[in-house]
Amino acid sequence: MGIETTALLQDIALAQPDLGGNELKYVTECMETGWISSIGRFIPEFEASFAQLAGTTHAVATNNGTTALHVALVALGVGPGDEVIIPTVTYVATANAVRYCGAIPVLADVLPGTLNIDPEELQRLVTPRTKGVISVHLYGVPADVTSVGDFCRARELFHLEDAAEAHGATVDGTPVGSFGDAAIFSFFGNKIVTTGEGGAVVTNSAALAKRVRLLRGQGMDPDRRYWFPEIGYNYRMTNIQAAIGLAQLERFDQIMSARIDTARHYELRLAELGAEIERIEIPAGVNPVPWLQNVYLADGGAVRRDAVVERLSSRGVPSRPVFYPMHVLPAFVDSRPFPVADDWTARGISLPLHTALTVDAVDRVCDELAAAMA
Ligand SMILES: *Cc1c(COP(=O)(O)O)cnc(C)c1O
Repeated sequence: MGIETTALLQDIALAQPDLGGNELKYVTECMETGWISSIGRFIPEFEASFAQLAGTTHAVATNNGTTALHVALVALGVGPGDEVIIPTVTYVATANAVRYCGAIPVLADVLPGTLNIDPEELQRLVTPRTKGVISVHLYGVPADVTSVGDFCRARELFHLEDAAEAHGATVDGTPVGSFGDAAIFSFFGNKIVTTGEGGAVVTNSAALAKRVRLLRGQGMDPDRRYWFPEIGYNYRMTNIQAAIGLAQLERFDQIMSARIDTARHYELRLAELGAEIERIEIPAGVNPVPWLQNVYLADGGAVRRDAVVERLSSRGVPSRPVFYPMHVLPAFVDSRPFPVADDWTARGISLPLHTALTVDAVDRVCDELAAAMA
């Protein structure tokens, strides 16, 4: 009984990849043909297929999402001393990549609930050194790309979307990734589409795609092999990664509908917790995708939240705090006030969500959450 209970308790994962399609077959093909490095049929096939999902004419695959961000920023002309406005609530990769360019991430407060960049902040933060804005579609919820895009166009700033957590999300029917000058995606193991580690830069600009491709491959001149006109990077995706990714995209609709079913069941069960959990409002026309399942405790702050996470863990339910805002991290510390980010991130918990999560498991997570909050 004890052992069985323990086994059952450990059964729930916070995130896990769904590799039930052609992933093994395609990876085996890489092994059998010897095309295991960054040349092979799966790379262009994955890029073409992914561009379709993002609604763009070009996709350039990279070895992870962070390098996609870096190479996109370099291609957009970001250099030392430039300022790039980013939301303070994001995964640290967004801020790190700006720093890799020698540029300064200027932190913006976020909107309540979605924790996405507050477009009203832009006017306040823009300076003559501002080069562009990164909007992050956090936890699968599209940012206000229309307001950010309008602001950037009016001032000739670039708009880069960080869509690492939002594969397939749409705004007014148009996929995220196609609103900015470029967008990046991540295919880390816990993301909606995975290649193990992996990333992509997508864009509708042929010139920008060409530049990203050049920088990704050590800066080699496409018309003159082994001639390197400038400093580039080795940020290439392997054929093995792309093999996994192509198999994922073949089943994208299936993977997404399983995630949506799970999110719907969460919604029903979390509604039963009533005013204990703060509801978040999604603007009209915005169609999020379920990545992790976030909940925001209506009362208390980080101390209570951490206690709830700890209690869940002791009951075998994995969860984690919502991302700490960048302005509290040592490398990005900023003492200006960020009232919305501070308030919401302190109360946020990410719960398990993936395609292998059963209805029973969601019930258990929600029951344990109710008990942990009591
Ligand atoms: C996952 C993620 C990235 C990129 O991460 P990698 O692990 O390098 O693929 C970038 N931004 C956000 C918001 C992310 O969640």
